[in-house]
Amino acid sequence: MSALAPWIAEQSRQLLAQRGHAWLLQGPSGLGQYSLALALVRAWLCENPGEEGACGQCPSCHAIDVHTHADLCVLMPEVAMLELGWPLDEKAQAELDEKKRKPSKEIRIEAMRDAIEFAQRTSARGRGKAVLVFPAERMNNVTANALLKTLEEPPGDVRFVLASEAAHLLLPTIRSRCLGHTMHWPDEPASLAWLRAQGIADLDAPILLRAAGGRPEDALRFADSTRHPKSWSNLPRAVARGEVGVFKDWTPAQVIDALHKLCHDLLARQVGAVPRFFDASELPAASSLAALNAWARELARASRTAEHPFNSGLMLEDLVSRAQSALNSKL
Ligand SMILES: [Zn+2]
Repeated sequence: MSALAPWIAEQSRQLLAQRGHAWLLQGPSGLGQYSLALALVRAWLCENPGEEGACGQCPSCHAIDVHTHADLCVLMPEVAMLELGWPLDEKAQAELDEKKRKPSKEIRIEAMRDAIEFAQRTSARGRGKAVLVFPAERMNNVTANALLKTLEEPPGDVRFVLASEAAHLLLPTIRSRCLGHTMHWPDEPASLAWLRAQGIADLDAPILLRAAGGRPEDALRFADSTRHPKSWSNLPRAVARGEVGVFKDWTPAQVIDALHKLCHDLLARQVGAVPRFFDASELPAASSLAALNAWARELARASRTAEHPFNSGLMLEDLVSRAQSALNSKL
């Protein structure tokens, strides 16, 4: 396990100093909800925890690091389990191996039932048990209601951490059963230092951090994709020229997100604010405010259908051509 980012370590210290059997970590994506949740359960189950959290040396820490701890239950959509390297239960794994279905994007009710049963069992290592739910907003109403009963009357030695990137989507009854913690935004120097420590080149780090709107883990994910940071810098002008190719291998949702960011920055500049996602020098010449506002409304509409585009090739061409005309509208 790599060292925690300093702002995650700081929050972990704060939360560990408080009592609470259920935490809800909330904030937009990319701020480290999963890292913080894992740091908490690791410290709770550690045989030799200190003020800084888990010791990192004991058999319990080791079991968590290799993702097989008998007293930790991780509840995630199967796509997230696979991405983060957590094992699925045998039945679910067999169904995926036999291609009976695709990995779930939601937390499955079967997994929730297993978690509730887990909560009732005696702890294997005698340091209590922990349930980690991420992203918690991927519970549907049935699954969330099943969890609610256990949250209301937790059986003795089990603790919960729910990590969410969209806490407003959670049932209010779930939120009210947890102690809430709003994720801290790391400042720019700390984020840049962390990105560089993860192996990001000096010059690329600020571009990636801007592309991710200041959220370091999202910036790292952007770097892990096949996209070059330079392509983000070049994106505004490429779109102004109507080049569809800049979005090669992007999903429609990612394209719409990038265009939203571009539109945001152009509107910000109109009112004299500093652009957030691009450097001012990367933005094309000013365009008309009315055209930008109309474009922003169209993007909001498009984002509602982005998950299921009728024809993603056509959709991309349409998006780029609309963006091009908004960017070239005259003042
Ligand atoms: Zn330990």
